[in-house]
Amino acid sequence: MRMVFRLIHTASKSIGDFLFPKRCLGCRAPNTLFCRKCELFYAMPERTRLSSGVITLSLFRYSTPPIRQVVRHIKYRHAYTLAEQFGDICKKYAHDLAPLFPPDASVMVIPIPISSKTKRTRGYNHTEIFARAIADAHRWDMRLDALKKIKHTPSQTTFHTKQERKNNIKNSIALSDAFSPKGKTILLVDDVLTTGATLNECARLLQNAGAKKIFGIVVAKG
Ligand SMILES: [Zn+2]
Repeated sequence: MRMVFRLIHTASKSIGDFLFPKRCLGCRAPNTLFCRKCELFYAMPERTRLSSGVITLSLFRYSTPPIRQVVRHIKYRHAYTLAEQFGDICKKYAHDLAPLFPPDASVMVIPIPISSKTKRTRGYNHTEIFARAIADAHRWDMRLDALKKIKHTPSQTTFHTKQERKNNIKNSIALSDAFSPKGKTILLVDDVLTTGATLNECARLLQNAGAKKIFGIVVAKG
């Protein structure tokens, strides 16, 4: 069965990467889905302090048309290579957060989990791709099993108020029994920051279990 999933994953990866014409979503330059020039033009790194106290670095504005398209390609069009490219962008900007970490911090990078149903449909968890790029570049530890999505929930994009999003995500994510964040500085990785409901929910679990400090990094701020 695992082999079948791998084949589907490889096929969807190839389809997504090759079916759509490779032109920059920002300027239409050929052979790339997001060129370096557009990366620099659209990048607007910004730090936001969430209600949980988590300082989150966002790299782009979601409302900017090419960024919205980029995120949608990564999430719904199987654009695996584009996700990897954004992992590279995330790892560069993660430097901006490092000075805020406690001295000699034991940093652990944790991607926001998606449900197994979503992962099967998409073929990959894009936040895992971003997290891996960040962790590898900085030689920080990464834990994929720290947080798990225990309930499939409708996409946060279908809810508009802060309370609705908070209710949607509440109790849908759990901390793995095999993981202790005690004393760790955690860097949570997600795609889009809107009301902060998802990051706050994860932060709450980690804080209750003894995490020392929690930060966030997201591709875009809504
Ligand atoms: Zn471009």
